[in-house]
Amino acid sequence: MLDDFSDCHGQMELHHSHIEFAIQNGVNLIHLEKFYPGVSNVNQVGAWTESAENLVWLCERHHRDAGAGIHDLSASDYEGTKFVDGLFSAVVVTTSAALLVPEDDVPE
Ligand SMILES: [Zn+2]
Repeated sequence: MLDDFSDCHGQMELHHSHIEFAIQNGVNLIHLEKFYPGVSNVNQVGAWTESAENLVWLCERHHRDAGAGIHDLSASDYEGTKFVDGLFSAVVVTTSAALLVPEDDVPE
């Protein structure tokens, strides 16, 4: 949820929000240039991938946890968790991902 970190857990981590580091060599520069002007030089894509424009801070749970992280949920589910109270809890307790959530953080 925006501006509410009560269900966050773990250290803060950087997430590649648009282009994941591992796929940067396959980026269609014409498409990338349309959304992010000035990055159509193949020699600059690597630097852009690691820039603030492509990175966002997430806690460990919202980054990598099964059933709660941006790398596990569908794009629409993850986006929904920003605006629907308790959606992360509902997802976590109804999937096997509950095993990955610290006991103190599992809703009663
Ligand atoms: Zn979080």
